[in-house]
Amino acid sequence: MTLHGHHLIGLERRRDGAADHRAVAAATGEALEPAYANARAEELDAALHLATQAHAQAPLSAERRAAFLEAIATEIEAIGDALIERAMVETGLPQARLIGERGRTVGQLRMFAELVREGSWVGARIDRALPDRKPFPRPQLGRMLVPIGPVAIFGAGNFPLAFSVAGGDTASAVAAGCPVVVKAHPSHPGTSELVGEAIAAAVRASGLHPGSFALVHGHDHAVGQLLVRHPLTRAVGFTGSLRGGRALVEAAAARACPIPVFAEMGSINPVFVLPSALATRSSALAVGVAGSLTMGVGQFCTNPGVILVPDGEAGDRFVAALTVALADVGPGVMLDPRILAGYEAGVSRRAAAAGIVRLSTPRPEAGRAQAELFTIDAENFIAQPALHEELFGPAGLIVRYRDDDELVGLATSFEGQLSATIHVDEADAADLQLAARLIHALRDRVGRLLFNGFPTGVEVSPAMQHGGPWPASSDARTTSVGTAALERFARPICFQDLPDALLPPELQAANPRGLLRIVDGHPTRAPL
Ligand code: NAP
Repeated sequence: MTLHGHHLIGLERRRDGAADHRAVAAATGEALEPAYANARAEELDAALHLATQAHAQAPLSAERRAAFLEAIATEIEAIGDALIERAMVETGLPQARLIGERGRTVGQLRMFAELVREGSWVGARIDRALPDRKPFPRPQLGRMLVPIGPVAIFGAGNFPLAFSVAGGDTASAVAAGCPVVVKAHPSHPGTSELVGEAIAAAVRASGLHPGSFALVHGHDHAVGQLLVRHPLTRAVGFTGSLRGGRALVEAAAARACPIPVFAEMGSINPVFVLPSALATRSSALAVGVAGSLTMGVGQFCTNPGVILVPDGEAGDRFVAALTVALADVGPGVMLDPRILAGYEAGVSRRAAAAGIVRLSTPRPEAGRAQAELFTIDAENFIAQPALHEELFGPAGLIVRYRDDDELVGLATSFEGQLSATIHVDEADAADLQLAARLIHALRDRVGRLLFNGFPTGVEVSPAMQHGGPWPASSDARTTSVGTAALERFARPICFQDLPDALLPPELQAANPRGLLRIVDGHPTRAPL
């Protein structure tokens, strides 16, 4: 499959600017064909005008929207090996990981299709009219979620399929009924183009408006800034760095008409190892932490970056076992040379922090990232905010604590996190009591709280929460993984006293779609 290096706007290839940037092979740094151009303002304007026209059409039926999501999944599968091969070269991720990620991508598209087909996600609420109510009659009210409008989506660098052009943000925006304009991640434009063409084919095959989807390229912040500032953009989905996410949140807030930015950013995902858990399963814990920390060369937003371990001999043994387990992990290729340079700079900064000890022995290998382990005491950790920031890559920081109170103090020192994990011996009353205190302390700080597990490997399912208080994400009320993600791209509307025939089917008296609705405060699928 030959790549063309153009944006896709109105399903057509377009490239007004000079094609001046290429992806590089993650493993070798070799420049890859073809070249791509930064999208120009006129191109973004064209994409957003078309998206607005698509949005202005009568809403698609649930069945057509679901069929479109399924068609995208089918078209992605039809690309076959070419997609995996290009993604491997651009990102350095291994074949098995990318095949798994493709499965996750098409799986989540189909999961959203099912949700849309069932339909109750619109959250229909109906308060029937009470014309005889005294002193005032009550009008008939019907409330439901409707699509917010054109959504700008920024593909993530570390998930070239599942969080990129047809990833969770796109799937949830399409499921909510929104047209999308995707900005391809500059590190994998070829992978993005292949998936973009698959979505374009699905738009055509489904007979949808050509403004339903656009893909633009860019390797300059100006492209993303223009996209977010464009007056026709109605919401933004982003996964990436804290700096990038903050810049987009600020750009969106500075617009004449501010819009929501759903940014998923940095997290250090603390792992709390309680004393009896450590005493009973120290070596299994060391193996588990090492696996989670180095999975995907540590390039997961749920990477367990900080591990809290009690002082004392058992803790020392655990630290020694973890050091050995990490030394056995070979160096790995990172997503691109820029990410590798960022990791190495972060490791050097960390090595210079006050009170820190580097446990790993430096084994430099050009172009590869080595797993690193550091240790520090609680007091020094709390005193240095830089140590609370995400270090993207396979680097762990062990924080030693003296007693329960110090551990709870550590828990309250964390900023917002995607996850926190507590390792507990469930047969030990002291561990359980301490766990209860930690849960209380962490409730306000995390999106997902795990027991006796590891935070990497995020299930895509209705109950998943992937998002947390700042800086984990820009809006702790939402998730970027799981079916609840589509609520980000919908807004409520209330119809008052509309004749039944003018109401959307979701609110009509006969309940033609058999939705679960709240009628006069009670959940029911019955007609009115
Ligand atoms: P990034 O630098 O934040 O870039 C993500 C996307 O946003 C790219 O399309 C980028 O394109 C755009 N962008 C970045 N800054 C922008 C700005 N100021 N204005 C407008 N657009 C902007 O993320 P990345 O390249 O994927 O990775 C870099 C770092 O992000 C990593 O080292 C890591 O710390 C973090 N990261 C975190 C996660 C996570 O899940 N939490 C995932 C991946 C990466 P342009 O560069 O073309 O503007």
